[in-house]
Amino acid sequence: MPELSVIVPLHNERPVLPQFLAELTPVLQGLDLPYEVLLVDDGSSDGTADAADALAHDDPHLCVIRLTRNFGKEAAMAAGLSAAAGRAAILMDGDLQHPVSVVPQLVAAWRDGAEVVNAVKEARGREGVAYRLSAWAFNRLMGAALRHDFDRESDFKLLDRSVIDVIASLPERTRFFRGLVAWVGFRTAQVPFAVAPRAGGHTSWSPLGLVTYSVRNLVSFTSLPLRLVAATGFVVTGLGMLLGAQTLWTWARGLAVDGFSTTILSVLIMGGFQLLALGVVSLYLSAIYEEVKQRPLFVVRKPEPPDSEDRSGPVA
Ligand code: UDP
Ligand code: MG
Repeated sequence: MPELSVIVPLHNERPVLPQFLAELTPVLQGLDLPYEVLLVDDGSSDGTADAADALAHDDPHLCVIRLTRNFGKEAAMAAGLSAAAGRAAILMDGDLQHPVSVVPQLVAAWRDGAEVVNAVKEARGREGVAYRLSAWAFNRLMGAALRHDFDRESDFKLLDRSVIDVIASLPERTRFFRGLVAWVGFRTAQVPFAVAPRAGGHTSWSPLGLVTYSVRNLVSFTSLPLRLVAATGFVVTGLGMLLGAQTLWTWARGLAVDGFSTTILSVLIMGGFQLLALGVVSLYLSAIYEEVKQRPLFVVRKPEPPDSEDRSGPVA
């Protein structure tokens, strides 16, 4: 039985995978404990899964989990966690941005009694202005909602078995791993690391993808936007009543009330706010809709039996 499971979500990482494993394997061997590496192929289209299978053929520590399509990194991590057999699991990216040299420090902190070991970014590495700005805004909002500092956090973590079991038992479908780990609590330690540049391949994130991801996580974790809408509604109603009283007063004194543009402006502002409020409510409605469906987080392709017909080959 492995003591340590290393979970690596992979989406189109074929160019980096051999180098990643070549760097990771000696580090894990140096730990002197039974381990497994779970390579979770998240519906790659560049043959990552086949490359992983070929590597696993020569190394019994490697295990390949194939998802049936691209479910996203969160789902890939959840698939890895549900398959992990170790007494602890490390989650790390497969593009060498999470340096393998940090792994022994995570394990040392776990051996010292920590149940969650967060690798925190000491340096953020190279990021575009838009990426940095949206990450900052997201971390602020999320941090306020959960009363937790997400600024330097990453998905690079070690979790003890007790934590893995609690996270696996949480019922929600929409998962924000970093948030869930912060939410469950447990004895937590930190290990600093510097984000390395990508060893090859491309990031799977588009700017729009990042925005969608942030909105989805915010909505799944906090009702703060809903409450903000309610609060704004109260304030606007209050202002409207004041304005109404003032208008009546002016009318009572016999002064003509004019201001066609004021009317248009208030209609526009109110209309805009109502649409915004409706939009926020719809976001929650769609989040509830996703949860109610109770679909699994991911679908794993069953390994084909070794003597199965090779359907990809030519038919004799
Ligand atoms: N990843 C994944 N599924 C996805 C997108 C990414 O499993 O849909 C994996 C990817 O292969 C990598 C990790 O998640 O191992 C981090 O992804 P990426 O490097 O694209 O994100 P970034 O480091 O730019 O935030
Ligand atoms: Mg990366």
